[in-house]
Amino acid sequence: MLDIEKIRSQFPILAMEVYGKPLVYFDNGATTHKPVQVINAVSDAYTNFNSNIHRGVHYLSDISSEKYEGAREAIRQFVNAGKREEIIFTAGTTASINMVAFSFGEKYIGEGDEIIISTIEHHANIVPWQVLCERKKAKLLVIPVFDDGSLDIEAYGKLISDRTRIVAVSHVSNALGTINPVKEIIGIAHSNDIPVLVDGAQGIQHGDVDVNEMNCDFYVFSGHKVYGPTGTGVLYGKEKWLEEMPPYQTGGDMVDKVTFEKTTYSKLPFKFEAGTTNFVGAVGMAAAFNYITGLGIDNIIQREKELLDYSTRRLEEIEGLKIYGTAKDKIPVISFVLEDIHQYDVGMILDKLGIAVRTGSHCAQPIMDRFGIDGTIRASLCFYNTTGEVDALIEGLLKVREMMG
Ligand code: PMP
Repeated sequence: MLDIEKIRSQFPILAMEVYGKPLVYFDNGATTHKPVQVINAVSDAYTNFNSNIHRGVHYLSDISSEKYEGAREAIRQFVNAGKREEIIFTAGTTASINMVAFSFGEKYIGEGDEIIISTIEHHANIVPWQVLCERKKAKLLVIPVFDDGSLDIEAYGKLISDRTRIVAVSHVSNALGTINPVKEIIGIAHSNDIPVLVDGAQGIQHGDVDVNEMNCDFYVFSGHKVYGPTGTGVLYGKEKWLEEMPPYQTGGDMVDKVTFEKTTYSKLPFKFEAGTTNFVGAVGMAAAFNYITGLGIDNIIQREKELLDYSTRRLEEIEGLKIYGTAKDKIPVISFVLEDIHQYDVGMILDKLGIAVRTGSHCAQPIMDRFGIDGTIRASLCFYNTTGEVDALIEGLLKVREMMG
């Protein structure tokens, strides 16, 4: 059991009032708030050991390097990667996917090859592959979804051919909350010797992610969606791929020997960490993982399941409200429309009541097109939210309907 009151007191921003109303923050899918443990870790880094990593022989640089590599080890343990070399620090999910699309694409994708993604991807897991396809004259194939927002796995199997080079799918859909059967997707791909990238931007903070057990080839996520600092993220990649893939960005820190004639590169993971990385952010991200480990992932899963069930039930009570994404396996993300009231109007009225939701296509226009809508209202919850806040949302929506319906 989580002590929610105590937890909420650790997130200073949650005590805020907006327009004189207590803040109800249901935009965790976009970014989560930060507990004092993370804020303090970042502050401590700038106060007590800020110095550029790996380069100095001096005291502060040594401490900073140690903390950075300690953060890498903490994250390796959290996702259960086999080796620290397999954990690359990036600026976030988008940066990680671009890195793989470019680098894997450079090495393994040629004219006529095929890449499989799905209809419910975030633009970050569509556009880099599309650009790669344009560059290499390859083809992008898309797994269709059923009306409940779950992937059509049979159709996926049929998309695989001897030209398929990589499959890239989200662990969890940010627009609908669907948890995809990634192990099954990976199993099918692997039985055809095809690697799989899993976009874990919405997966890492809601479940027990074990990349070893999942057996994905790449797993990517952002620190800011998992209670950590902005501008941080991770690319987990199996060593066998990362070793073979060329560097993405080049410059300082990723090189071994530089002459004007030829440059040799650093070993993993540094080969993929050009320039000054967000070393303070990495320490903050490790503090975030530490924090959720302390709460217990199983406790988080249970709490969020209760919040999902409660909020779904309450929202379904509202006449004229339609939920998009009703698959069995979901995180507490509820995407809906209210009669034919425009989502922006709903969002703006809720905002005046202190309730933060996201409206629009959630950077996932293809899935909106699939449902024939231009957007939804999305309430994305996490463990620090309460059923009382859900009640406030319901009241707010009833008010919206009264005013606009
Ligand atoms: N993929 C998914 C599923 C997401 O939800 C997001 C963020 N909304 C991203 C990728 C991109 O993450 P970031 O903007 O942190 O790079």
